[in-house]
Amino acid sequence: MNLHEYQGKEILNSFGVKIQRGIVATNHKGAVDAAKQLTVETGTSWYVVKAQVHAGGRGKGGGVKLAKNLAEVETISNDIIGMMLVTPQTSAEGKKVNQVLICEDVYYPGDSEPEEYYMSVLLNRNTGRNMIMYSTEGGMDIETVAEETPHLIFTEEIDPTMGLLPFQARKIAFNLGLSGGALKEMVKFVSALYTAYIKSDSSMFEINPVLKTSDDKILAVDAKVTLDENALYRHKDYAVMRDLREENPIEVEAKAAGLNYVDLDGNVGCMVNGAGLAMGTMDLIKQAGGEPANFLDVGGTADAQRVETAFRIILKDDNVKAILVNIFGGIVRCDRVAQGIVDAYTNMGDAIKVPIIVRLQGTNAKEAKILIDNSGMKIISVTEFQEAADKVQEVLA
Ligand code: GDP
Ligand code: MN
Repeated sequence: MNLHEYQGKEILNSFGVKIQRGIVATNHKGAVDAAKQLTVETGTSWYVVKAQVHAGGRGKGGGVKLAKNLAEVETISNDIIGMMLVTPQTSAEGKKVNQVLICEDVYYPGDSEPEEYYMSVLLNRNTGRNMIMYSTEGGMDIETVAEETPHLIFTEEIDPTMGLLPFQARKIAFNLGLSGGALKEMVKFVSALYTAYIKSDSSMFEINPVLKTSDDKILAVDAKVTLDENALYRHKDYAVMRDLREENPIEVEAKAAGLNYVDLDGNVGCMVNGAGLAMGTMDLIKQAGGEPANFLDVGGTADAQRVETAFRIILKDDNVKAILVNIFGGIVRCDRVAQGIVDAYTNMGDAIKVPIIVRLQGTNAKEAKILIDNSGMKIISVTEFQEAADKVQEVLA
């Protein structure tokens, strides 16, 4: 589950990670109040207005702007709230901005120049260990840094039985070129950041930039936080941070119906029971020259109600030109599933305009095929995997 910057910062702050302070607002009046409040709390006289959407690269798209007084806070917030923000990480139409974070300006002049670093905490799937990735090249696209100057990206792996050791935090601060007070601040920052990552059951933190202020404070200016959904049951206070407006509406509906659905770009919708078979079915579709339009695991109970819901969700995607139903009857009998498909088809009347290929295999597969063939409906029923692939190819041609 992805969070907004302001929510991510809230979590970081609760574990003692120093952050650029901010207050969220949903309209320009609230933005001005937030700015006034920030001045009381931090003494700042300049502010940064930051669009809150689930996408990076907001600065480049005009979603992060400096305001030098309250009047500018008001006009900039008014412009940003409600806009469709297009960034290198959004679609061409962009994302609607529902709220802004009014932040204190932390790039103020002082004894030294502010410096931006990159830091992320994530799982290295090859070693099964968490790692901290960091770079002196903060503030810019890390993909570009990885391409052009890969030697400027460092990683530090953490032994799960020991946790982050003090020497590792010092090494990170040292590799970032820090010394004196800034080095000490960075050691504290890194340690607190790693603790926050573990205790919040996150699967990714990306702080870009981490800022060294002109007076040697180390702060998280941005925060991209992804929580592990499977651990949300033990973080009720984080679960409520979910912003459904930021998520794919078809996926949200599928989730509410208890279906495991992931939207993809292709033209063949698939309805399958079991994640492994769903993956195999996607391979099969590709082999037949199609592209899967979705991943959909309907689970063990493929009754009429569930099958109908699944059909309706698959058909919300306009790109779908055919549907392949591939169900293995192990616990659930194929003839029951077949009846479910026929009932769903009947209930939906004209809603289904694309060819449906059904492959049922397992307990009572023969009875199931007869049931579908005798239904008089335009459903192509097969029992073999290869036949199903051939039929997909046929209907797409
Ligand atoms: P992103 O573009 O979505 O990654 O948003 P960030 O939160 O990283 O902000 C983008 C850029 O805005 C940063 O890299 C900074 O250069 C700039 N920025 C953020 N906070 C401040 C601030 O307090 N003062 C100034 N002058 N610039 C800031
Ligand atoms: Mn950023």
